[in-house]
Amino acid sequence: MSHSPLVHVLGPATRAYEQPTGGWFLNNAGWVVGGERTLLVDTLATEARTAALLEAVHADTGRPGHKILAAITHWHGDHAHGANQVVAAGGRIVTTAHTAQMIEAGPHLFEQVFAYDGWGDVTPPKINTMVSEPAHVSLGEVSVDILPVSWVAHTGGDLVVHVPSDGVLFTGDLVFVGVVPLVMAGTAAGWVQALDWLGTLEHQHLVPGHGPIQGADSTAIAELREYLSWLLDVTAVDSPDFAALDVQARERWGTWSEGERHAVNLLKTHADQHGTQIDVVALATAMVKQAGGPIKLDI
Ligand SMILES: [Zn+2]
Repeated sequence: MSHSPLVHVLGPATRAYEQPTGGWFLNNAGWVVGGERTLLVDTLATEARTAALLEAVHADTGRPGHKILAAITHWHGDHAHGANQVVAAGGRIVTTAHTAQMIEAGPHLFEQVFAYDGWGDVTPPKINTMVSEPAHVSLGEVSVDILPVSWVAHTGGDLVVHVPSDGVLFTGDLVFVGVVPLVMAGTAAGWVQALDWLGTLEHQHLVPGHGPIQGADSTAIAELREYLSWLLDVTAVDSPDFAALDVQARERWGTWSEGERHAVNLLKTHADQHGTQIDVVALATAMVKQAGGPIKLDI
């Protein structure tokens, strides 16, 4: 592994596990330590990365037997591939019904898009605990709120984790920082709506799905909202000039990594706004073309 994650102490109970910004499948995670159990927020893309994450959790709690409840923010493999290790260690997974269904249908390796063979064992577990309404979960001495999004945003079954006592908000992939967001499994319109809702949840620290941890003065939500609103604006017409828009996006958001996602985001948002279907193979092909061939992963 060529990238080292960072552990940030965000309050008495809450830790963020930050992986380097940029690169497919390099997501953030975190955990909240209670008196009785630990809530893990998301796992990582490979068997080895999740094993390292769980070691960091155990080193922090000092309680290897401490039971883990893992809240998975959405089904994408970077966040969900390690779920089997949580279950193997006697822990439980909690997520939305859509996410559970998608995880169980995986693992989603998208072999036509990514050239990679280092996943390890990412066989999905059976998931029995679903959340469809806001859930206040006690961990012993500290409580967290698991808040599902009831409409399609980044995916069809996103959730966020709020830790009011530490002022921490784990957004999953509802927030990307310094990385082009991926709209392929969701909709730009629903995502904008989710960002407006996120802004109402009080926090001092925001842990995005990808990119650096943010403070209370962060402009990350506003910047992402601006990008998604741009997607909606420019694809409102029947026949946009996709190639020109792709160039425009790469210039305007030139500091964000994974620029190949603009092409996909434009096609998907156009299809959503015009009630047309676009197939995943066409989207993946657009992305691979922009990336100059199958995307090589360095994870
Ligand atoms: Zn995602």
